[in-house]
Amino acid sequence: MAPTVPFFQQVNLNFDTAARYTDFPSGLLDQVKMCNTICHMAFPVKRDDGAIEVIHGWRAEHSHHKLPTKGGIRYSTLVDEDEVMALAALMTYKCALVDVPFGGAKGGVQIDIRKYSTDELERITRRYTYELVRKNFIGPGIDVPAPDYGTGEREMTWIADTYTTLNPGALDTLACVTGKPVEQSGIHGRRAATGRGVYFGIREACNVPEDMKTLGLEPGLDGKRVTVQGFGQVGYHAAKFLSEGGAVVVGLADIGGAIYNSNGLDVEEAFQYRGENGSLFNFPDATNLSKPAHVLELDCDILVPAALENQITRHNASRIKAKIIGEAANGPTTPEADDILKAQRVMVIPDVYLNSGGVTLSYFEWLKNLSHVRFGRLESRFDENMRRNLLKAVENVSGKRFPEEEQERLTHGATEEDLVDAALEDTMITAYHEIRTEARALGGEFHLRTAAFLIAINKVAQFYMQAGIFP
Ligand code: NAD
Repeated sequence: MAPTVPFFQQVNLNFDTAARYTDFPSGLLDQVKMCNTICHMAFPVKRDDGAIEVIHGWRAEHSHHKLPTKGGIRYSTLVDEDEVMALAALMTYKCALVDVPFGGAKGGVQIDIRKYSTDELERITRRYTYELVRKNFIGPGIDVPAPDYGTGEREMTWIADTYTTLNPGALDTLACVTGKPVEQSGIHGRRAATGRGVYFGIREACNVPEDMKTLGLEPGLDGKRVTVQGFGQVGYHAAKFLSEGGAVVVGLADIGGAIYNSNGLDVEEAFQYRGENGSLFNFPDATNLSKPAHVLELDCDILVPAALENQITRHNASRIKAKIIGEAANGPTTPEADDILKAQRVMVIPDVYLNSGGVTLSYFEWLKNLSHVRFGRLESRFDENMRRNLLKAVENVSGKRFPEEEQERLTHGATEEDLVDAALEDTMITAYHEIRTEARALGGEFHLRTAAFLIAINKVAQFYMQAGIFP
């Protein structure tokens, strides 16, 4: 059933709830809330059979308070102006929350990717990029896209190549888009980053004994039963890291079907199985669910919606059994459902915080592209040599030798992967406690979304104030 409130309005309702706790002038709050610019394009694409089709695409830049603006590109039939504006607004608040110095943006192309060949998708992506260039909606210092629903490394490579071709001789063209493959100037860990951040965020929430006691749960991730809706870039990685971190994944769903096993599902095997069979249906030792949406209502401790917006609504919220909802997708819970969940004392870890791992790693990729050097390249060997010297000195003084494996572990110089993973973990932990502290000041552990919005609004509004735009 369709939600009663359009998506951008839903985001703004959350904004308004939080804004009540500030005393910024209403005009300034309006400026923070509004979508600054939006571009709608309609362009022709030649199908493989020679037919011409008109494709609709959008790019919304929600806030220019910091540049470039940043946000993914989505390919889906549901894409429209309202959706990209809502998603762009979430990007502004997300970036502010985790101190990533960008304004928010989002783009989308209204297509069902399953109905187009690879060649057709390439033509669509390159033409969409060309339109963005023509309208000045892309560039390392202007607006930097990334992957989202229906797009991935392949599309980001086409975008980077088209932009570079149209800007001959420019030095920083590869910083025009993030989420590229590592071999194409991407960064280690970007593919898994959003799911990895989801894992760090949920783990942190579960590690607070006081909050788990309130929910009637044991502290820690160990043994907690998890269900995941959406088994793409975000859902697969979230499920993988949560299960590696000790949780038991009991339910999985993608658009083609859903499966359940109360004793746990092997995430890696399910991923392989879906790859080979095109669907999760009939995965060995699992029960098929009659509808993918039923995965939301399974008996579990943690529910991770990782597909699309408007999944938990006033129609199904009261049937949710999970005590914790970790919003990996953007906008999975409508404000009406949020109220029902609050009354049921369900802890909702909000999207605006929980899926910020993607943009955090995108920030690092952008920095890497601008500096033209991989993280760790200058210091890794130097660090390793210093540590070896230190161990040698300890061995000389003590007269004992460290075992080979111990030496390896203690002296290993940090790689790019190590550095960005540690930085992501630190970002997610720091932001969680900032939000939790604010939520408690607002009256409880169930106000995480309002707290997250409040922190973001304060940061963006203060930036405007300090910039002197509102003297
Ligand atoms: P994706 O295209 O890689 O995967 C989407 C998955 O959702 C697919 O497995 C699809 O089958 C499934 N799905 C779609 N409709 C469904 C339904 N009704 N029931 C069950 N499964 C369904 O997309 P993604 O990149 O993983 O993005 C998922 C969500 O995460 C989106 O809301 C996106 O905005 C958000 N997000 C993505 C990133 C990123 O880095 N990719 C970053 C932040 C937020």
